[in-house]
Amino acid sequence: MKRLLELAVFGFSFGSLALPAAAQSPARWLAHDMERPRPPVVTPANHALPVPPPSDAIVLFDGTDLSHWRDAEGGPAKWTIRDGVMESVPNSGYVFSADSFGDVQLHIEWAAPVRANGRGQGRGNSGVFLMGLYEVQVLDSYENDTYPDGQAAAIYGQYPPLVNACRPAGEWQSFDIVFRRARFHRDGTLAKAARITVLHNGVLVQDNVEIWGPTTWLQNRPYTSHPDKLPLSLQDHGNPVRFRNIWLRELREWDESGPLAVENATVASLPPRELEKFAGAYGTILGDFGTIELVDGQLRLHMKTGQVIELVPRSSSEFAMRYTAARLVFNTNEEGSVAGFTMHLAGEKYPIKRLP
Ligand code: MG
Repeated sequence: MKRLLELAVFGFSFGSLALPAAAQSPARWLAHDMERPRPPVVTPANHALPVPPPSDAIVLFDGTDLSHWRDAEGGPAKWTIRDGVMESVPNSGYVFSADSFGDVQLHIEWAAPVRANGRGQGRGNSGVFLMGLYEVQVLDSYENDTYPDGQAAAIYGQYPPLVNACRPAGEWQSFDIVFRRARFHRDGTLAKAARITVLHNGVLVQDNVEIWGPTTWLQNRPYTSHPDKLPLSLQDHGNPVRFRNIWLRELREWDESGPLAVENATVASLPPRELEKFAGAYGTILGDFGTIELVDGQLRLHMKTGQVIELVPRSSSEFAMRYTAARLVFNTNEEGSVAGFTMHLAGEKYPIKRLP
């Protein structure tokens, strides 16, 4: 922040910057408001770290090298590796993943500097920037007060964490993040805001919150259209914060159309007198199975277990359960009356007899 202040005062002329239209803030608090209530402190359980990656994870840092990381210009990342840990080098700049990502499940472990220098935003400050735009704050928030929307595990400037689950400086901590990127219409306007869930040391701290634009200091930036995938970045905020065991899983696209009403369509139209013959009681050698009734031109199976299931005609002798991948194939005796059916369900066949 201090460096930004210096830039603002000495490097930039604000007069030359056009202010973007302010994004609507759903917060009832101004950004960085020290009057805002502090999230309650929770002591996380001693969960085992590091958490090894599952088989489909992309490992961005396993302690050996920075080959998956770049500096802002695309050159080699200037952070250091020591004892299998990467460490932010003050004034070396942010680091960016060489590859780009959109929707991800991200696991990352971090530790604030052991000698807890500084206070507020100046103590163990870094950040995990999804797509390089949306910051989950890294800060030594163990007995270190700051504005709640800027403490550890805050969505910076937008959402304080639900609780403060920070461990003391020097101890390894984890973020487990589920991130869904923003979607844009072809004309660049926002179709769907980004959403994020965060667990800090195994404790839920962000519950699928809707991010309302790229996170920033002082400003409230609206969304502007960006690619579907962008590099992940880690912040250099002038403190030697350490990171290890960084892996992610790319998540499949959301089904934007929402859940479909999946049901078995009626393909055969049978008159009531045809349906009537299936009505009756059914069972197995083990006992009752249920009763089929004709109600308002529909066959309904009242199972002994209590379910009432609509049967959809597929042919003159085959019916499907309305919402289930199950079929009832009826058989007849020599006289041509219904003798029973075979229920096909989940790869199994169940012979059911008509009861006299
Ligand atoms: Mg930060």
